[in-house]
Amino acid sequence: MKTFSTLCSMLLFGLSTGQPLSAAADQIKVYSVAEGTYIMTDTVHMSDAEWRELLTPGQYHILREKGTEPPFSGQYNKNHERGVYRCAGCGLDLYSSGDKFDSGSGWPSFTAPVAAENIATKDDYSLFMTRTELLCARCGGHLGHVFDDGPPPTGMRHCINSAALVFVASE
Ligand SMILES: [Zn+2]
Repeated sequence: MKTFSTLCSMLLFGLSTGQPLSAAADQIKVYSVAEGTYIMTDTVHMSDAEWRELLTPGQYHILREKGTEPPFSGQYNKNHERGVYRCAGCGLDLYSSGDKFDSGSGWPSFTAPVAAENIATKDDYSLFMTRTELLCARCGGHLGHVFDDGPPPTGMRHCINSAALVFVASE
């Protein structure tokens, strides 16, 4: 946890050095589904108390404590509506219904994010496994893990907790 926190601070927030944040370091390029293009946006950094106030206990456990919801328990596992899945922490567009598939795992599964820039990854050696953790690139919230046993076209399976997402149906 400490290693991740340090890395997270260095990569996303630039706080580890205690130096003032530069404008460049505090902004990232992400894809906006609403805009239909890439945009520059500020990274989101809040205190633990602020996250607790903003998020439901379930969202907080997943996003800020790297929790995992029980399989088949999340509200989006069987969601087949058309729309976009946003980060429950900061609202960044993360996944599209067009990339969602039924993996049978019990968690919402996607072959790809809306754009690589919107997702951050980190090696995760917890639970005696080597996995790749997925995080929101803007707020650092834990989303789930990615595996290489997905269907075409990418062969990837982004295994995401429903509680890390907010679904917005297409018009
Ligand atoms: Zn986020």
